[in-house]
Amino acid sequence: MEGALTARDRVGIQDFVLLDPYTSESAFLTNLRKRFNENLIYTYIGTLLVSVNPYKELGIYSTKQMDTYMGVNFFELPPHLFALADNAYRTMLSETNNHFILISGESGAGKTEASKKILQFYAASCPRTRLLDNVRDRLLLSNPVLEAFGNAKTLKNDNSSRFGKYMDIQFDFQGEAVGGHILSYLLEKSRVVHQNHGERNFHIFYQLVEGGDDELLRWLGLERNPQHYTYLVQGECAKVSSINDKNDWKTVQKALAVIDFSETDIESLFGIIASVLHLGNVRFDADARGYATLSNGSEVHWLSQLLGIRAQVLQEGLTHRKIEAREEQVLSPFTIEHAVYARDALAKAVYGRTFTWLVNKINESLANKDSSRKTVIGLLDIYGFEVFHVNSFEQFCINYCNEKLQQLFIQLTLKSEQEEYETEGIEWETVPYFNNKIICDLVEEKHRGIISVLDEECLRPGEATDLTFLQRLEEKIIGHPHFITHKLADQKTRKTLERGDFRLLHYAGEVTYCVVGFLDKNNDLLYRNVKDVMRQSKNFIVKQCFPSTEPDTKKRPETVATQFKSSLAGLADILMAKEPWYVRCLKPNDAKQPGRFDDVLVRHQVKYLGLMEHLRVRRAGFAYRRRFEVFLQRYKPLCPDTWPNWKGPPAEGVERLVKHLGYAPDEYKMGKTKIFIRHARTLFATEDAYEVC
Ligand code: ATP
Ligand code: MG
Repeated sequence: MEGALTARDRVGIQDFVLLDPYTSESAFLTNLRKRFNENLIYTYIGTLLVSVNPYKELGIYSTKQMDTYMGVNFFELPPHLFALADNAYRTMLSETNNHFILISGESGAGKTEASKKILQFYAASCPRTRLLDNVRDRLLLSNPVLEAFGNAKTLKNDNSSRFGKYMDIQFDFQGEAVGGHILSYLLEKSRVVHQNHGERNFHIFYQLVEGGDDELLRWLGLERNPQHYTYLVQGECAKVSSINDKNDWKTVQKALAVIDFSETDIESLFGIIASVLHLGNVRFDADARGYATLSNGSEVHWLSQLLGIRAQVLQEGLTHRKIEAREEQVLSPFTIEHAVYARDALAKAVYGRTFTWLVNKINESLANKDSSRKTVIGLLDIYGFEVFHVNSFEQFCINYCNEKLQQLFIQLTLKSEQEEYETEGIEWETVPYFNNKIICDLVEEKHRGIISVLDEECLRPGEATDLTFLQRLEEKIIGHPHFITHKLADQKTRKTLERGDFRLLHYAGEVTYCVVGFLDKNNDLLYRNVKDVMRQSKNFIVKQCFPSTEPDTKKRPETVATQFKSSLAGLADILMAKEPWYVRCLKPNDAKQPGRFDDVLVRHQVKYLGLMEHLRVRRAGFAYRRRFEVFLQRYKPLCPDTWPNWKGPPAEGVERLVKHLGYAPDEYKMGKTKIFIRHARTLFATEDAYEVC
């Protein structure tokens, strides 16, 4: 029929490796767009999954769909997140090794949704032999709890992750989920006390005020109106049409019950959440000498009630600082400005430490008591790259984290893959790519990196300011191709920069950071006497969060950025020891709208995520490689020459084996220590033959 579209024309190609001409970015985009328009949001590049956020429910995650994808090889069914999850799972079982799924993409691209779907898939698909307890439910329900406390509406995403999350799902040798463990990374605490216009505080505050029953609110001294709370209204959008705080509250309540939260835990937890709201409403007046006094006692009354700290002690802690002068301690009164600062610092500290407590508590509930050998699949879902009108220390940390993950991706795919071909003596034409190591170094290098310079300035209290930090940067990082400031810029660029800004050319684009607040946020200081006050609390969570054995402040604690840097290095070590799987999430438009595919926006993401380079390496390279011994050991029953044992050199045994299996000469290459197989489907066919034999 003339003019009629073939199915392929309409729905595009489901693996980019098969796309022709594959090198063209336009062809890549056309294929993505075609599929997106047909509600086909997933496409492979070999075993990497590209996902485009549909911004609407597609009905593709039902239990029926899960069943369909269970135990089926890649490429036999249309691309799906479940196919990737299932293959990671089955490889883990057959090879008894650990895996991780790296989900990346910018804010709002769909990482958190993807990680939830994968978890749901495992919960539904793995066997239930032991009927242990409800590990599965706990794994699943840890999500709404952590989201309530760690996600918030931003301008980019109504449910934006404001912390990084790495979750290990542990399986026993039969493939049953037996436990889990969560690592959390740098929560954006500043949101507790300040939100930009159009943004909200963490969901849990609104859920409590909207959904908590009357008796609870009365007990907590709260009004059923977010407008009443300073900490909830700065963004002027307490109500969001896409969010149902009341329902979410119910979900969180149920989840807390399943994850072993006792009545006391729950009371103490919400006592703290309410305390933060009361704290935000504490106001100060100036006394005759200009020092801060409390405007009225009612908030402190509630704080005292909820935290179990004497009102007098709280009042003193909020308006004074203890200074050690020789042998004695002197109380020095705060100015109003200082008092506000101390109040906000306390609110952030209480919330931040409670979040850590929450993660630990969830971990206790997920812990597997059985010490037998386990394998794990790690799920990484962090905050995506983000650029706002004004970017601060938080965006600097978040974007640095994304930079590190991109570096990991490059190392594991583009770099090591190509190096491996070289060391194994496989003929190979190098695919060039942009290596963002230069930006990671710019941020984290010892002595010269931005974090080092920031830390040095933090060591000069009283002298250093955010602006001296900027000056130091300008002195130390001159002529770096990814760093620019007003002073260092050429005339044209200078017009786009304020004097207090520095700009980084990240892998994902330019971001201009305003230095205001960098020193403070990096120091994250809490006055010692405020800690002393909190230690007196009768609220047992607060007691645990402010232990009396806390290292003394005389020894300088690590700064926030340095802690974050070490925890990311730790994360990279964790991941490097496992087998990687990748989901690259793309955002189709900036308006969070279904059905809109903005070519320019998607092209930009395809570029910076290195998808074309990945495709080139995949297309020219080999989907699978196995050490000769491992390959032989597994598949030796498939060939009479190698069964039951092959006595000769492993390479020769492998050669005999694959010839016997009928591998086409083009389909594999023998390296020095490994066999390289071009297409995944070849290995899958061999695996199928093995299953049957
Ligand atoms: P951030 O970095 O800000 O945390 P993210 O990548 O985690 O962003 P998500 O929260 O997963 O982004 O997705 C943003 C929104 O997009 C979701 O709340 C949901 O409305 C929609 N969305 C994402 N993925 C899907 C999907 N597969 N199907 C339907 N809607 C989706
Ligand atoms: Mg997220």
